[in-house]
Amino acid sequence: MDCASRCSGHCCEKFVFSFSLEELELISMNLEEEELVLPSGRRVRPKIMPHEDVLKIKDMLIPLDLSEIDPKDGKNLKEEIFRDQLDKMNDFSLLTEHDAIWIKNRGYIIKDNNIFCSVFTCKNFDTVERNCKIYEERPMMCRTYHCTSENKYKQCTLQPLAED
Ligand code: SF4
Ligand code: SF4
Repeated sequence: MDCASRCSGHCCEKFVFSFSLEELELISMNLEEEELVLPSGRRVRPKIMPHEDVLKIKDMLIPLDLSEIDPKDGKNLKEEIFRDQLDKMNDFSLLTEHDAIWIKNRGYIIKDNNIFCSVFTCKNFDTVERNCKIYEERPMMCRTYHCTSENKYKQCTLQPLAED
């Protein structure tokens, strides 16, 4: 099978996830709670999360780095979020409480007048074959991920992708 006719695996190799390992650990210890306030101030509702997924994902994530660039599209987070609000982009003291909550609720981190995302790889990703090693048991978030030509990983070589 040539690389243009199959998933290239980039989405499993390096991806942004909206919770840190520490946050996932906290959530996993409080799965029956209606609401949990994370150290960042972000509020989550563990009871309505798919519990099996939380546990699987906590176990499979390998942190890589904090990045101001989303590895999927190569775009700068701050520029994307504030492209129509140059004043805020240049001066984070102008951020409102609503702005800060909106950013944190996406799992992004505000630091040094910048916005970062947590980048991970997955321990179930076979870097040689570029396949998922637990394909039949992969979490729901992986099963339901839908990529199209519009939102594909920038290095992805699969052609063509399904359309919306
Ligand atoms: S579990 Fe499988 S499909 Fe999901 S991110 Fe890991 S390697 Fe990819
Ligand atoms: S965009 Fe789709 S086909 Fe391409 S690497 Fe990601 S999941 Fe695979």
